[in-house]
Amino acid sequence: MKVLQDNFLRVIDYLRLSITDRCNLRCLYCMPGAGIVPSGHRDILSYEEILRVVEIAAVLGVRKVRLTGGEPLTRKNIVFLISSLKKVRGIEDLSMTTNGVLLEQYARELADAGLDRVNVSMDSCDPSTYAVITRGGDLGAVLRGLAAARSAGLRPLKINMVPIRGLNDHEIKAFAEMTFTSDDHVRFIELMPSGCLDFWDPEKYITTDEMKKIIGTIAPLTPVRVRRNGPSKYFRLKGAQGVVGFISAITHHFCGDCNRLRLTADGKLRPCLFSETEIDLRSALRNGAPDSEIERLLRLSIKVKPEGHNIEGRRAELIGKIRHRGPRPERCFPEPARRPMSKIGG
Ligand code: SAM
Repeated sequence: MKVLQDNFLRVIDYLRLSITDRCNLRCLYCMPGAGIVPSGHRDILSYEEILRVVEIAAVLGVRKVRLTGGEPLTRKNIVFLISSLKKVRGIEDLSMTTNGVLLEQYARELADAGLDRVNVSMDSCDPSTYAVITRGGDLGAVLRGLAAARSAGLRPLKINMVPIRGLNDHEIKAFAEMTFTSDDHVRFIELMPSGCLDFWDPEKYITTDEMKKIIGTIAPLTPVRVRRNGPSKYFRLKGAQGVVGFISAITHHFCGDCNRLRLTADGKLRPCLFSETEIDLRSALRNGAPDSEIERLLRLSIKVKPEGHNIEGRRAELIGKIRHRGPRPERCFPEPARRPMSKIGG
């Protein structure tokens, strides 16, 4: 079996595939209220193009594929894509990150088509707070989606929450307590200075250590190993069925374990979420490039994968600008050189 390794001896076996930059929510930290100008239908990769890339990547050593976006469930014929990806030889794990709004409608069909798991982003359990963070989202739809995913067997369900001071930080404990009554993985993600930068603020940002302190007041937290844990560090509250996880892009770098490559909806290979380096795969796909050329570009993107990101530098830069009292950082959204998360694939 082939193994893809980068210059720092990391095994790259995970492709994060954005299939659309459109989203049915407008989360405060991710997108501006007016949304973004979505790519045209011709600008994003077709399912045939996506499948060709995944087939070649699987021959090279990619074993896991996660669909993301934008909101992947807003793309038409998503069930067809899942069933086609499931048939690609070598792909052992097929998952999706979704906001869950359309999951009630799709969970059963997705599971039947071969989807292994879903991660659902849900930043509040309170309908009005949820509506504020998502600018109008319906929490009820997400909760019904979670129930549909559980009963369709898409387990363990991973629930992702981004704690933001002054908005939903009072719910950190309640989210962790969900693990007493279900086998869900509840994961807390540090608010990153990416996406909608004019929302980011050091005061809103909560470190993993602070989250752990809050959760540790419920019951003792013991580290646990979870298969395919990716960048998340997992713990179990004493007496809980499920586990809590922490994704600490800022305070605890996980670059040393990074095994991923990203493909944006418009066909750019992106070796690191936080680096602007992109390799244009779409032109090659559309100009008749043979498989060997697609393979060369995939290998190139792994060759240029940076050893680590400089998100801490970006955070310090933003804090510096905010402290200097001037207007919010000039290069905040929309920044020509920095794509919003929905354009990269979060
Ligand atoms: N629409 C899907 C969803 O909601 O899960 C997939 C795309 S969304 C961009 C993927 C994940 O990125 C979500 O869990 C979201 O919370 C996270 N995300 C986006 N911007 C973020 C930021 N600035 N800091 C931390 N997490 C962020």
